Amino acid sequence: MPASAAHLTDRSDRTLLVGSITRPTTARPLIARTALAAATLCLLTMATAACSGPSADTTPESAVADEAVPASAPAPIAFTNARILDGTGGPLVDDGVVLVRGGVISQVGPRGQVTLPPEAEVVDLEGRFLLPGFINTHGHVGRTGDRSDVGEQLEIYAHYGITTVFSLGDEAEDPRDERWSPDRTRARLFVTGPSLTPSSPADAADEVRRVAQMGADWVKIHVNAQRNRDTYPAVIEAARARSMPVAVHIEELEDARGVLEAGARLLAHSVRDLPVDTPLIEGMRERGVCLVPTLTRELSTFVYAERPDFFDDPFFLERSAPDDLEAFLTPQRQAAAEGPGAQRWREALPLAKENMVRLHEAGVGIAMGTDTGPTGRWQGYFEHVEMEMMVEGGMAPADVIVSATGGAARCMGMEGIIGTIERGVWADFVVLERDPRDDIRNTRTIHSVWTAGNRVR
Ligand SMILES: [Zn+2]
Repeated sequence: MPASAAHLTDRSDRTLLVGSITRPTTARPLIARTALAAATLCLLTMATAACSGPSADTTPESAVADEAVPASAPAPIAFTNARILDGTGGPLVDDGVVLVRGGVISQVGPRGQVTLPPEAEVVDLEGRFLLPGFINTHGHVGRTGDRSDVGEQLEIYAHYGITTVFSLGDEAEDPRDERWSPDRTRARLFVTGPSLTPSSPADAADEVRRVAQMGADWVKIHVNAQRNRDTYPAVIEAARARSMPVAVHIEELEDARGVLEAGARLLAHSVRDLPVDTPLIEGMRERGVCLVPTLTRELSTFVYAERPDFFDDPFFLERSAPDDLEAFLTPQRQAAAEGPGAQRWREALPLAKENMVRLHEAGVGIAMGTDTGPTGRWQGYFEHVEMEMMVEGGMAPADVIVSATGGAARCMGMEGIIGTIERGVWADFVVLERDPRDDIRNTRTIHSVWTAGNRVR
């Protein structure tokens, strides 16, 4: 438990906690503080209207220009000659420039519209594609997967261009005061604490208090035939009383409708038993609740029935692969991937993809998320497989990119903070050699990755 969070027990203290984790630790442009204040408000209220970040239209130029920068501050960085995909689905900006100060984007636009200060350090991207770093809205970072070191896991995600991870169901340790540091050089981490299983509705408030005291950003619960069907309304209500959003593991349509009605903020998996229906679609759209497909989660149940092709993929082997691939090639492991549990999910996968597309086409937010972290679900690499599977399922590559960047940020209440190439947003970038809108596998042509303007790859 972070020491700074140990004493926090009630709603007013929760406000302090959120305030403390989003407050910048060093001087940075005024607009960044405005954005962070918006994030705080957004997280507290989870109201769509409060989740819009500041725009260039509403923030005067002088807000950036007049900021007092300490003499010791690092020089601004100008990324030039970039083809910019801004993460909102807007048109590509050819020959673009992004200026970064103190880890935050201070100007962005076509060359000629951005004023470069003479002291700026110039990074010529030579026509490459500059995108927001990818956001994994459903990962697992902690001590129980194939790797125990939390810092290493966040480095691996960042190596693959995944610059933010929401860990849904873990007690990952990552110093909170480093989350918004301009020196950040690994993926940003948000946590739920353990997935809650209160023994009765009366216990729900205690369970929510427990994860709030741990410093959780979100609350996570599983709802299925085995867990929480009688307790989820109480959990969601207790979380709402603390202004904490709730992410729910669902499998079935009826549970999806139920948790939505009760006030859940995120469906953390696909609906896999029935086609999504009008009440669910309209309810999600009206409430701004998004769906996280986690298609690679299904893949991971059956793909080890034989040696997967990706075990020979150099991109997988860079950082994502474990030291010992042999453990996945034993007769026992292969038999498990042929078993009824695995086959159930294999058979559910086509419907999961159809439901993702139906929701997407109806205007419901789809947030890229993978459920990586548990054994056989490779942090970093599977996010790229997930995006490929989303395209195979029927989403356009350009839409998948939004789902993994600006769309994901909006789904998680972080719009205007991360996930887009706009003024006031943290400078988390992935630079690609080729256009991912032409072929989603081009997300793997990584030239470089940056968090808060710091090169990490
Ligand atoms: Zn999960």
